Amino acid sequence: MLSFESVKKLINGSSLNVTIIPHRKPDADALGSCLALNLFLKKKGHHVNVISPTDYPSFLTWMKGNNEVINFENNNKKKPVQKLIESCDLIFCLDFSSLDRIGDLGTLVRDSKAKIILIDHHRGKEDFADYEVWDIEAAATAELLFQFFVDLGEKKLIDKETAECIYAGIMTDTGSFKFPSTSKKTHLIAAEIKAIGVNTSKIHTLVYDNNSENRLKLLGYALNKRLELLKEFHSAFFILTHEDQKKFNAETGDTEGLVNYALSVEGIVLAALFIEKKDHVKISFRSIGSFSVADLAKNYFNGGGHQNAAGGISYDSLNKTVALFKERLEVSKNELSESYLLRTS
Ligand code: 5GP
Ligand code: MN
Repeated sequence: MLSFESVKKLINGSSLNVTIIPHRKPDADALGSCLALNLFLKKKGHHVNVISPTDYPSFLTWMKGNNEVINFENNNKKKPVQKLIESCDLIFCLDFSSLDRIGDLGTLVRDSKAKIILIDHHRGKEDFADYEVWDIEAAATAELLFQFFVDLGEKKLIDKETAECIYAGIMTDTGSFKFPSTSKKTHLIAAEIKAIGVNTSKIHTLVYDNNSENRLKLLGYALNKRLELLKEFHSAFFILTHEDQKKFNAETGDTEGLVNYALSVEGIVLAALFIEKKDHVKISFRSIGSFSVADLAKNYFNGGGHQNAAGGISYDSLNKTVALFKERLEVSKNELSESYLLRTS
């Protein structure tokens, strides 16, 4: 383990080769944190590469430094990335804390001789980092990153573009400051970001008012045809088959936020979205109140996350996966009722 002082020395010291990695299919918090750190470390004179395990939604491509991000999914990038990770001095893992969240990059990171710094707010942390900023109470990784810059005594290096990336992470991970994870500190950081000169309304527009026609039509179709309510369990879920996605030319990011519509139905405290992929089913879970979707995802769907927002993966068919979900609802009926009764307390 490294001490904070030695991390500070590394960052303030001579130029290092640094690699920054978000989780698969990075969201605004993961990518925003990576690109904010990229800008920051470059100002400190380091050589920085941001490597994403996969592609990400087009509504994130406005962030400064987006053009520099290397997508590890591109076959011609595999070898160079392997070399980069083998030979770099420092690796930052942002917005994930278990190596299975970065696919094949996980082995490269585990085998690298570089020092590893983890900044994250998810449960289920593995021990692979040399220094950790890990707080599951934090609303976003971007919030922890902002504080990390402050702790380094470098608040002055947070320029407008850096603050925009951080704001996008905080805004999206808090559901625009509405989730219970939103703390006084979250708002104080948002205030600082305003003071830096960020047009926060513009960021909201860039992220949320950027829908393609297909995406909206997919949403309409899902609401109309694919939403199933299980009121006795205070639960609701969507499925999306291959064909559904093909019909609307679904792209990465098009289903983000969809699960929240199921959660917004009156009386619902557990929502799920099952998306049929080539060789697996990707699952998103959301809950309100005491029912932990992190536990549900971890114990039955090879996943994890937070108490009220989690995800997982299933290698069974769509039907079998949904059947298992329904089975778990039966078992958890009392817990779900409790979550419902206490949802506004
Ligand atoms: P989403 O449903 O938006 O994909 O993810 C919700 C939350 O669960 C996020 O914090 C995300 O990082 C986490 N999550 C999503 N999928 C997985 C997964 O397969 N494994 C783990 N451990 N966490 C996940
Ligand atoms: Mn996050």
